[in-house]
Amino acid sequence: MPFPRPEFVPFRAADFAVSLSNWFRSSQRDLPWRREENFSDPYRVLVSEIMLQQTTVAAVTPFFKRFIARFPTVESLAKAPEEDVLAHWAGLGYYSRARNLHGAAKSVIEEHGGQFPRDFNEILALPGVGRYTAGAVASIALKQRKPIVDANVARVLSRVLAVEGDLKTAKNQSKLWEGATQIVEVEAVSPREINPAMMELGALVCTPKNPQCELCPVEKWCGARAQNRQNELPFVASKAAPTPLFDVCAFAQNADGEVLLRKRPEDQKIWWRGMWELPRTTRIEGETAAQALTRLGGELGFAIEGGEEVACLKHGVTRYAITLSCLEASVSTQIAGEMVKWCSFEAARALPMPAAMKTLLKTLEKRPARQLRLL
Ligand code: SF4
Repeated sequence: MPFPRPEFVPFRAADFAVSLSNWFRSSQRDLPWRREENFSDPYRVLVSEIMLQQTTVAAVTPFFKRFIARFPTVESLAKAPEEDVLAHWAGLGYYSRARNLHGAAKSVIEEHGGQFPRDFNEILALPGVGRYTAGAVASIALKQRKPIVDANVARVLSRVLAVEGDLKTAKNQSKLWEGATQIVEVEAVSPREINPAMMELGALVCTPKNPQCELCPVEKWCGARAQNRQNELPFVASKAAPTPLFDVCAFAQNADGEVLLRKRPEDQKIWWRGMWELPRTTRIEGETAAQALTRLGGELGFAIEGGEEVACLKHGVTRYAITLSCLEASVSTQIAGEMVKWCSFEAARALPMPAAMKTLLKTLEKRPARQLRLL
């Protein structure tokens, strides 16, 4: 039942926080990281928060369960080989998050004697942990009154406080963090509840488009609603169109039906570093797909000759729209080194591999095995 539209009341953190906290208790979603065994463990809160960066709740849920089943404690993650960690992250994207999480676990073991730090600045110093993530861990797991501002909280507060202009400016950031600080410091509410409550309100009610103000527990304190500007705030700069990239990869099989895989270099500047894939490159302007594979072969130290296109898929990475063309290929008999190997489809499934490449291999696995002439 919608609430009757209330009179606007200027923002008062204490009333706002209590109303929002009450709503959260009855309306929150049942999510795995909100179970007692997870939300009171700073390591598990850290895992969920890092996974949730740039990724939706629906996408994260199965990954979180699988990751925690495999790495239930900070020690188990710290001890695991990086390839195992990446394999359990494969499909979530933004793999630097997995490396940072692994680094954070090692840091807890090596620099904090296995005890997850309780001091906010020490949490903030862990690899990959910024002000938001440190605030989430400190407030949810350790019940410290630390504010958080993520995209959902920023949207809610920008509307409630009727913040004008680009939210990324220092002035507006300061307004949002100040608002979040006032709210989490209200003694009548638990920091473990009020921070997730603000995020939940942004996810379920105060949505980017068409917020459901008539269902909102903080409607009467909302400046945007009072001015009927809930669809205008916050200001969102128009996004640049994605840049197209044309990639090509080689699908080569040997007499046993194994496929040729290549490990991407451990270069900080490239995507998917250290992960496995069909040998792949980005086409240079004016180059055909087959020519690009010949060039790639030269870079890898063996010959590749591209044939027919056997699959093509489109996927996005950050601000790029990638078209990945897969050519059936012959390769020279002499391939050697740690960075390339022949691998069965079954064994490839357990390797850390970008999601688009996993999808491609699933398609290719259904084709009859066909070894092309080896060069
Ligand atoms: Fe968002 Fe509307 Fe609630 Fe304001 S009243 S916080 S715009 S849902």
